[in-house]
Amino acid sequence: MQPDKIFYEPSALNYELGKILRNQYKDLPWIPIESHNNIPELRNSSNSEFAQMKRHLIIGVRKTHRYVPNYKSSDFLVPYTSSGCSAMCLYCYLVCHYNKCSYLRLFVNREQMLDKLMKTANKSDGDLTFEIGSNSDLVLENTITSNLEWTIENFGKNEKGFITFPTKFDNVDSLLNLNHRGRTIIRVSVNPQEIINKIELGTSSLRNRINALNKMCEAGYKVGLLIAPIVLIDNWKRLYAELITTLANELSEKTKKEILIEVIFMTYSYVQRAINNEAFPNATELYDQKLMTGRGMGKYFYRTPLRADAESFLKDEIGKQFDLSKIMYIV
Ligand code: SF4
Repeated sequence: MQPDKIFYEPSALNYELGKILRNQYKDLPWIPIESHNNIPELRNSSNSEFAQMKRHLIIGVRKTHRYVPNYKSSDFLVPYTSSGCSAMCLYCYLVCHYNKCSYLRLFVNREQMLDKLMKTANKSDGDLTFEIGSNSDLVLENTITSNLEWTIENFGKNEKGFITFPTKFDNVDSLLNLNHRGRTIIRVSVNPQEIINKIELGTSSLRNRINALNKMCEAGYKVGLLIAPIVLIDNWKRLYAELITTLANELSEKTKKEILIEVIFMTYSYVQRAINNEAFPNATELYDQKLMTGRGMGKYFYRTPLRADAESFLKDEIGKQFDLSKIMYIV
C-alpha cells in the first residue's frame, strides 16, 4: 500500500512505532486528529469517495483492549495492532463496523497489546488460542509496520498459547525464517479467481495465496484454509468445483495433511450495498432479492433452500478431494 496522506493522533509519536512511521512517511502530508475513531472530515465524505479514503493511513493509540470469547477457530477475538484495511472486498465485514471509515488504522502501542496477550496466555491452565486478525488483514498491515514479524518472534518465546489470523495476501516471505516455535497459526482465505477479480478488489491472486500457504506450512507454521466467503454468483457450482480441484492439485501433500477447512457463507448488508452502489457503480451486484433475505439489523443472508443446496454441494465436492473430517465448520 502506498498511502496518500496520514491522519495521526499526536500522542502516537511518543511510541517507538509512531516514530518509525513518521520517518517512513516523512514526505507525505501529516494531519493531526483528536481521535482515530472520529475524523469529521472523513466521516462527512460521500460514499463515492470510499476508494479514495482507502488510500489514507490513520495512526493512533488503541484504548480498548477487551477480549471477546469466540467458539470457532479460537478462544478469544483480540483487538490488536490494526483495524480496517486498504483492500476493498465488496462484502468486507469491516464496513458493517466502520461504515465508509473502514480505512486502515494502525495502533502504535503494540508492546501493551502483546504484553496483555502473553500474560493472559500464561495465566491459563491450558493452551488458549487468540484470534488477532479479526479486525484487519495482518499480513497486509505487516508490509507497512513489520508488526507480524515482531509479534510472531516475541509470542514464540511464550511457553503457552497460540496466536492465529486469516489473510487474503501472499506477502509472507519475511515470516518464513522467524523463530515462531509453532505458536502461530496462519489461515489463508481463498475463493475462485473470478470472484477475486470481480469482488475481492486489491487482494492477492488465488495462485499466490496457495503458494503462500504451502510456504508457511513448509516453514513449520501451523496452517489452515478458509473457503470464504462463499459467494453465490452465476456459475457458482462450476467455480467452486474448479476451486476445490485446484486446491487438491496445488496444495502440497504436507499442507493437505495439516489443514483444517473453515467454510463461511457470505452475508451482506444494507450499508455495504449503499456504499458499493455509489463507490463502485459498475461492480458485480452482490444483493439479489431472489437469493437473499433480510434478517434484522439491515443484514442479508442467502435464503434457506439455496444455502442448504450450496452446503450439500460444497460438502460433496470437498469430500471428493479431501477427507470430510478436514471440515472444521460450515456457517
Ligand atoms: Fe476486508 Fe479482508 Fe478484504 Fe481487507 S482483505 S477488505 S479486511 S475482507
